[in-house]
Amino acid sequence: MTSDRSTSTPHSGHAVVLGAGIAGLLAARVLSESFDRVSVLDRDDLPGTGDTGDLGSGLGAGLGARRGVPQAGHLHALMDRGREILEELHPGLVTRLVAAGAPTSEALVGGRWYLQGRRVGPVSTGLTSVLASRPLLERELRRRTAALPGVRLLPRTAVIGLVGVGADESVTGVRIRAGAGDGASTVLAADLVVDASGRNSRSLDWLAAAGHPAPPTSRVTVDLGYASRIYQRRPEHLGGDLSVIISTTPGLRGGGAAAVEGDRWIVTLAGLLGEHPPTDDDGFRAFARRLPAPDIADLIGTATPLTDAVPYRFRESVRRHFEAVRRPPDGIVVIGDALCSFNPLYAQGMTVAAQQALVLRDCLSGGLRGLPGRFYRAVGPVLDVAWDMATSSDLRYPAVAGRRTLRGRVTGSYAARAQRRAHRDPAVARTLMRVVHLAEPPTALLRPALAARVLAPGAPRAITPAAPTVRDRLAVPHHEQS
Ligand SMILES: Cc1cc2nc3c(=O)[nH]c(=O)nc-3n(C[C@H](O)[C@H](O)[C@H](O)COP(=O)(O)OP(=O)(O)OC[C@H]3O[C@@H](n4cnc5c(N)ncnc54)[C@H](O)[C@@H]3O)c2cc1C
Repeated sequence: MTSDRSTSTPHSGHAVVLGAGIAGLLAARVLSESFDRVSVLDRDDLPGTGDTGDLGSGLGAGLGARRGVPQAGHLHALMDRGREILEELHPGLVTRLVAAGAPTSEALVGGRWYLQGRRVGPVSTGLTSVLASRPLLERELRRRTAALPGVRLLPRTAVIGLVGVGADESVTGVRIRAGAGDGASTVLAADLVVDASGRNSRSLDWLAAAGHPAPPTSRVTVDLGYASRIYQRRPEHLGGDLSVIISTTPGLRGGGAAAVEGDRWIVTLAGLLGEHPPTDDDGFRAFARRLPAPDIADLIGTATPLTDAVPYRFRESVRRHFEAVRRPPDGIVVIGDALCSFNPLYAQGMTVAAQQALVLRDCLSGGLRGLPGRFYRAVGPVLDVAWDMATSSDLRYPAVAGRRTLRGRVTGSYAARAQRRAHRDPAVARTLMRVVHLAEPPTALLRPALAARVLAPGAPRAITPAAPTVRDRLAVPHHEQS
């Protein structure tokens, strides 16, 4: 079947990736540097994998979300660190997205951000927001991945089990079923299996059934509801700005709108702890009007809808602590949402998937023996950053269920203070935004000069908006917490 699993021979052996989402495609990219064959399996159809160069056409009114990734029909913001890694792995990607109609802007300059009911900035951040829809980004990644030497994408191929998973065995392949699901199953042998099959991955069940201990799991229950709708975009909308994010904190309702390819807006409304946005026309508008800032309600009051609103329900953030397992099963690495799935309000998932791909690349240079353990140990601190940021904020809501720690409490309250200070202090606003974009570590907010500004009792310098709009001036401070 395969090569010697214990050695790291460049360009030898077969890697199998479960799932052609963002995590799977980026994993395939780095695996193609170490394996001569990489197979990416997905139960969905995967249109647009030919090198036709055509990205922008074929878009209907909707965004074209696949069945296997229903979240793709909702606003997906790519953090600057994610953009940077995608460019490193696929040089020229952003240029292609722009050519396909995706707008770009500097975060906090061409887009509005409301925190705790008040607008932050505009302030120069040096961060680029690429406003491609998730399906466009995925199509371009898919096209590039399929074009890599040795990589093949196998659409309409469901993985239905792992092979060789006994308690003392390595995973040596996957059991698959192609097509409509009624055919016979076959085995695909692999030197390494990478599970990137998302939040509902079955591999933990398969491993548990074979006697492998389940990793400890952290859960933070937020009961978040999304509703998203596509609108036609006109240049005068939102005063020419390209996005607006109205954060839920410290209330329960928030939302966002982003200009995407095809002169369209994707508008997403969101509510925590059961406060879910309705999808009917009147309910959707009414929910938007009750947000802490009027921008989204104003936008959808004048824009023409192109689709109905679609819902999504996200119950909890889940993190599987494989790093705490003494001997994680060999031959399989779990990555992406299957490993750690974040509250989407913080827009971290795609960027963290990209960070994980870089960690996997580093770990592959040490060969396949002990790779899973090395990967989980190395990726733990990367996940800690995003997980702590998101959950310390969520756990400030008393009704959110999850484990509260002193460190989390301190982090959450310091971050909330930095957010309030960001309204009036450009240096804090800039650093906060860079931390949110995972471009700088959270410790950047603790540097002495900055901490002094965050903690200062007096009034910090006021931000003078470059070109305040009437709506900006009318935005009322809301729900301020002390
Ligand atoms: C509502 C919502 C909004 C979000 N917004 C953002 C955002 O703004 N910014 C951001 O960075 N992230 C966001 N995320 C997170 C982001 O979508 C994911 O973190 C990111 O896509 C990485 O996911 P993944 O590739 O691990 O899994 P997925 O994208 O879920 O892909 C899994 C793939 O595996 C396939 N699959 C599953 N099971 C099988 C099987 N048995 N056999 C074969 N194939 C299988 C599926 O068809 C799918 O293609 C959001 C998530 C949600 C839910």
